[in-house]
Amino acid sequence: MKPYKNKINRIRSFALSLIFIGVVIMYAGIFFRKYEIIMLIFMALGVLCIVASTITYAWIGAISTRAAQVVCPECGGLTKIVGRVDMCGHCREPLTMDPLLEGKEFDESYNKPSKSRSNKNSTSH
Ligand SMILES: [Zn+2]
Repeated sequence: MKPYKNKINRIRSFALSLIFIGVVIMYAGIFFRKYEIIMLIFMALGVLCIVASTITYAWIGAISTRAAQVVCPECGGLTKIVGRVDMCGHCREPLTMDPLLEGKEFDESYNKPSKSRSNKNSTSH
């Protein structure tokens, strides 16, 4: 398992977990319905989480339009690259947009645009 995830996928799972957290908080608020203030606080927190998640989703949309869509050389799937380097959303192959960075040691983990899977666990430091 590679330690890094595709940026868009990472943000998306964060937004999704925010929704779950919001729902759980609101659900917890129901147990305090005898204490109106506590219940209201829980509800407000839950709504806040969901609003934050919505904002995050909008943010992902904004990122996605700017992201370059490429075909991953490793798995052949379509994926989106955010920034100069990113991971494939399907197989987590490191991909770079900048040809200057190919083969260069600009970051320990991103420095290998290699197409081989053999060096899965070897990140040279
Ligand atoms: Zn891939």
